Amino acid sequence: MVVVEGVAKTYRTGRVEVRALRGVSFELPAGELVTLRGRSGAGKTTLLNLLGGLERADAGTVRVAGREVTSLGEGGLAELRRDVIGYVFQSHGLLPVLSAAENVEVPLRLARAAPAERAERVRTLLALVGLSDHAGQRPHELSGGQRQRVAIARALANRPRLVLADEPTGQLDSETAAAIMPLLRAVARSEGVTVLTATHDQVLLGLSDRVLTLHDGLLTTSAPSPAG
Ligand code: ADP
Ligand code: MG
Repeated sequence: MVVVEGVAKTYRTGRVEVRALRGVSFELPAGELVTLRGRSGAGKTTLLNLLGGLERADAGTVRVAGREVTSLGEGGLAELRRDVIGYVFQSHGLLPVLSAAENVEVPLRLARAAPAERAERVRTLLALVGLSDHAGQRPHELSGGQRQRVAIARALANRPRLVLADEPTGQLDSETAAAIMPLLRAVARSEGVTVLTATHDQVLLGLSDRVLTLHDGLLTTSAPSPAG
């Protein structure tokens, strides 16, 4: 599903060089919930951004669902972000003027899905994340955990092959956060999608099928989780 080979990325700010990724390789099968751990600054966000085509690698190759992300042009990257990859960020990033249902519908509109299909998909996804009764509420009328669940539903709208979640529980209290990982796991199973979640929350690691550990831009372990 995901094949990463020798990926490197260096940021230059003035004279300062930061080698955010120094040659990272791994493969992820379909339908797994994978945790990417590592301290702040380890390169987690950089790696997710490279996988999602939000940034370009200096070296190496990234393949997602048979597409070579590293050689796509702007049009190909836009298509990849719309059709193949779903994103969940630390802050939910929902549009405040839209209801939960309308937020989930946004990617479906961008993909020009027909109205009946959009309505059906929105219903299915809100049910999947346990928010059928909150479809008409706007983000400010929802709790932090509910907002993040809407964001997960939105990320799944166009049936992505890969969902990238960057510290999706970072702004939630630990109890609310603990409910998000089982949800992502259920999503990975029911939608057959690979979910890669960056986190440094130890509690969440045991719930994943596989753990990747980044340390200063290098992958130090790539082991299936004992609880997986
Ligand atoms: P993490 O998500 O694990 O906290 P990041 O991938 O955000 O780590 O960052 C890895 C390293 O790259 C850090 O040292 C960070 O300061 C640096 N970095 C990340 N993004 C940029 C950028 N746009 N410009 C310069 N340096 C950056
Ligand atoms: Mg980060």
